[in-house]
Amino acid sequence: MLQAKVQGVSESLEQGAGKRVLIVEDEPDIAELLSLHLSDLGVSCKQVGNGLQALQLAQAEHWDLLMLDIRLPGIDGLEVCRRLRSAGATVPILLLTAKSAELDRVLGLEVGADDYVTKPFSVMEVMARVRAIFRRVALDQGRAAEPAEMTVGNLHICTTRRQVQVGGQTIELTPREFDLLAFFAASPGTVYRRAQLLDQVWGYGHDGYEHTVNSHINRLRRKLQQNSADPDYIVTVWGVGYKFNDNLESEYVA
Ligand code: CA
Repeated sequence: MLQAKVQGVSESLEQGAGKRVLIVEDEPDIAELLSLHLSDLGVSCKQVGNGLQALQLAQAEHWDLLMLDIRLPGIDGLEVCRRLRSAGATVPILLLTAKSAELDRVLGLEVGADDYVTKPFSVMEVMARVRAIFRRVALDQGRAAEPAEMTVGNLHICTTRRQVQVGGQTIELTPREFDLLAFFAASPGTVYRRAQLLDQVWGYGHDGYEHTVNSHINRLRRKLQQNSADPDYIVTVWGVGYKFNDNLESEYVA
């Protein structure tokens, strides 16, 4: 029992040790609560309560994660997220949304966040999401199963540089979009259910969040299909899920 507890603690410390999280939240109580629990993971945190300051700080320094509240003074969290992504920032972003109506907006706008939690949230849930993001990043860094270079149709994916080109043009993907694409492209023709994708790409199972998968795939498709002549790379398998197009000419370099 004690042994298990000690192992649990060292595991969580390992996950967060040396990591830096920027908490963007104008409610001091919530910011403090998050900061307290992140410190338990070994994470060092900085708090900022205003959108514009957050944007500046997010770009000026290296962060392992941004926890971004939507309702902020100045520019709101969605706008912060959108501006960071359009500037090419790939830092993982966890959105804090105030209610389900806002969540619809988040999903509808597809601003490029990696994940979200709805307030009022349980600290346990938020920390589970944070750990999942850290796990996924660690997994990416140690990932060996995917080929280093994949060329399918007009698409070129370099997993070591995490770079994607369509017809020779580099496109900007969020970390999650890249993970999804690389995961799919590594095994064309394999059909994945949404729940499987949540497990394999998001790194944790959570029932009822399958629309997250749809929303990320739709956004990814739009980025991959710059014009109507481009093929469908990610194909919907009705009633089941998705697969990567296996009718295209492909080349893989380990
Ligand atoms: Ca707020």
